[in-house]
Amino acid sequence: MYKYTRTIDVRNAIMDARSQGRTVGYVPTMGYLHVGHRSLIERARSECDYVVVSVFVNPTQFGVGEDLDRYPRDLDADSQMCESSGVDVLFHPEVSEIYPEHPFDALVVSYPELSTKLCGAFRPGHFDGVTTVMSKLLNIVSPNKCYMGKKDGQQLLIVKRLVADSFFDVDIVGCSTVRESDGLALSSRNAYLSADERTVAAELNKSLEKVARVIESGNPEIDVAISRAREELTRGGLVVQYCDLVDADTLEPARELSPGEYLLGVAALCGTTRLIDNYSVAVTQQGEFEIDRGITGQVSEKSHV
Ligand code: AMP
Repeated sequence: MYKYTRTIDVRNAIMDARSQGRTVGYVPTMGYLHVGHRSLIERARSECDYVVVSVFVNPTQFGVGEDLDRYPRDLDADSQMCESSGVDVLFHPEVSEIYPEHPFDALVVSYPELSTKLCGAFRPGHFDGVTTVMSKLLNIVSPNKCYMGKKDGQQLLIVKRLVADSFFDVDIVGCSTVRESDGLALSSRNAYLSADERTVAAELNKSLEKVARVIESGNPEIDVAISRAREELTRGGLVVQYCDLVDADTLEPARELSPGEYLLGVAALCGTTRLIDNYSVAVTQQGEFEIDRGITGQVSEKSHV
């Protein structure tokens, strides 16, 4: 595995691979890799000849007062995981490599209609930072396929829109959420949780599950189920930012489930740690429900490496 910090080295390596007819799979991350990240890498490995992973804690997607400075970092462990997962190139640039024109003002594309809803309502500017960095990273790596987690469902939607609108020649592949055995979605931020908070954090997924069961049962009272979920989360000690069922394309609240795709999402503060989770819900033309809950219980409690 090659480790590069400079854009030019990554480009040269990828040009070499491409000249040998190899397809390139890319997994962008902010590091502190866990088994959820590894599932993306493994999917890339199984579908592409050459796999590139980036570890870059992108400053422009953090707001004032957010956790940029304390975001967990462990490049040695990340490097080991990449090496053992068959990654060809690990790209870990400095901020100045990605944003040579300090301060970080080179916004590329903005989707106010999408980026001010759900997480965006609580993290102003966050998704502009995501589209900015993804434009840069996709231009550097120019992969055939880019693997991203459904756990960050809003991010996945916005990046897909960015790629379509900007004519990036890449397939964005959405990958299922990997969970701990109690349902908590793996996240680098879980490292912030105390033992007590870790117990409470599992409520997030439990609340999604309860609403999902109401949806699957055909019960039309989705509003009631969502209100109850919010109350239970609050009683459980979480500070709920949102818990809602939305149209998967517009992110507008959805109450009547006609055939189409939906996102059942939740975000809450557990202590000072912001956690998110979601299920993808599809309603077929026949009125059947297909819910992607992710993959549970195939990982150790110690999620980092
Ligand atoms: P991050 O390092 O948190 O920016 O995540 C990098 C990529 O990994 C994003 O596409 C995430 O959606 C994805 N990811 C994070 N956690 C999980 C998980 N538990 N399961 C699957 N993918 C994940």
